[in-house]
Amino acid sequence: VEDVVTIAARLSEIRRQIAEAATSAGRSPSDVTLVAVSKKHPAASIREAYAAGQRDFGENYAQELVEKREQLADLDDLRWHFIGALQSNKARFVVPGTVLIHAVDRISVAEALSKRAVAAGTVARLLIEVNVGREASKAGVPAANVSTLIDSFSALPGVQSVGLMCIPPPGASDEHFEALRALRDHLSPRFPALALLSMGMTSDFPSAIRHGATHVRVGTAIFGART
Ligand SMILES: *Cc1c(COP(=O)(O)O)cnc(C)c1O
Repeated sequence: VEDVVTIAARLSEIRRQIAEAATSAGRSPSDVTLVAVSKKHPAASIREAYAAGQRDFGENYAQELVEKREQLADLDDLRWHFIGALQSNKARFVVPGTVLIHAVDRISVAEALSKRAVAAGTVARLLIEVNVGREASKAGVPAANVSTLIDSFSALPGVQSVGLMCIPPPGASDEHFEALRALRDHLSPRFPALALLSMGMTSDFPSAIRHGATHVRVGTAIFGART
C-alpha cells in the first residue's frame, strides 16, 4: 500500500500533539522547538518539510550534514542541529553552520569545537549528553560528572554549555526525563546559561514535553521509516 500521508500532514499532527502536551503541562507551545530529524532522508524531503513551515532540522552524521547543507543552501533561514556522536576530527563540519550541537560528552570534542569556533569568530552552543541511567553501553556522561565537565568547558573560548540532552532506554522515558530536568534545575543556579533540555523522540516526545523538554528530536513520525 502506498503511503499517501504527506510530510506536511504529519508535521501538522505533531505540532498539534506538541501544543496539547505543552498546554496540559501549563507551558506555552512556543517554548518547545521541534527538531525534525532528517538523517537518511533525502534533501527533497527536507524541502517538503520546509515548505510546510519547518525550520529546525537535525542530522547525525557530519558528512551527510555537509552534503545536505550544500544542496539546501538556498533555504537561508533553515537551522541545522547536529544531534549525533561527533568525532573531534569532524568538528570543522559542524562549526560554523549549526545552531546547536546536541550530544557532547567529552572534553576532546569541546576543545576541537572551541578551536573551530575561535577561528570562525563564532560561539558554538553545546548540549551535554547525560547517561541518566548509567547504562554501560550508552554514550553520555554520568549525572555526577556533569558539573565538572561544564567547568572544564567554561575554560574554553568559543563554546558555551547551554543545556542537557538524553536518549533514554526503551520503556523508561518518564523517569529519565524527570531526572534530566532535575539535574538542569540543580545546576542552573551555578551555570545560568544552562537552560535547554533536548529530550523526546517519535515514541515519547509528548512525555518529554510534560517533563520540560525545550527541544524534541522527531524523525520517523515526520519522514517515515529510515531505510
Ligand atoms: C534518529 C534520532 C532521533 C529521531 O528518532 P525517531 O525515533 O525517528 O524520532 C532523535 N534523536 C537522536 C539522537 C537520533 O539519533
